[in-house]
Amino acid sequence: MKVLVVEDDPGIVEVVSLCFQLRWSGTTVITAANGRKGVDLVENESPDVVILDIGLPDMDGYQVLKEIRRFSDVPVLMLTVRGEDTDIAKGLELGADDYITKPFSHIELIARVQAVLRRVQGLGVPGDERPFTSGKLSVDFARNEVLLNGKPIKLTSTERKLLYHLIRNEGRILSHESLLAKVWGDTYVDARDLLRVHIQHLRQKIEDNSETPGIIVTEHGIGYKFIRPISS
Ligand code: CA
Repeated sequence: MKVLVVEDDPGIVEVVSLCFQLRWSGTTVITAANGRKGVDLVENESPDVVILDIGLPDMDGYQVLKEIRRFSDVPVLMLTVRGEDTDIAKGLELGADDYITKPFSHIELIARVQAVLRRVQGLGVPGDERPFTSGKLSVDFARNEVLLNGKPIKLTSTERKLLYHLIRNEGRILSHESLLAKVWGDTYVDARDLLRVHIQHLRQKIEDNSETPGIIVTEHGIGYKFIRPISS
């Protein structure tokens, strides 16, 4: 595995590198002490996962994330500082997969990274891989292909997994807790903001108007329901 750590504090870089090497022997750690170099390394080194600090000397982590997301789907975990005015929701909206608050323990870091990697690799979702087609939407889970009005659209791995569970439970309300557990794992059942942000992204990609969704419908206070789009 290759991990990229974008952080200007050498102490944190060392701790993160050590965690990875202890847990995944043979891990290659590459580091960038500023945002510009971080973006370049994502492009040139294709890391498997990126640990990205928000406080960097040249540009903040949000900006770095924005640039990375223009060309890469690599899982990104953001480092935030407890008590500092960091906006976790903003990071998630820009496409971060998760965040870790400094100071963190080895165990916490490894658990978060494992959860993210499982999510990304676990896209061969066990079970029913039949393609789904209805109206303007067509999804081939086995081939990782999503078409809207016949045109391919790009979903992140989390969005694909979310869509999978929604479609496989079409017409049924899935509670926030059950969707969070299915997509992120049992320890995330209370992370409603995380779910809300990813649902919003998915809607922006597949709904005609994400403000008045007709496919992924909100059941207030309960969860979400997938409604099969009708042919027009
Ligand atoms: Ca820093």
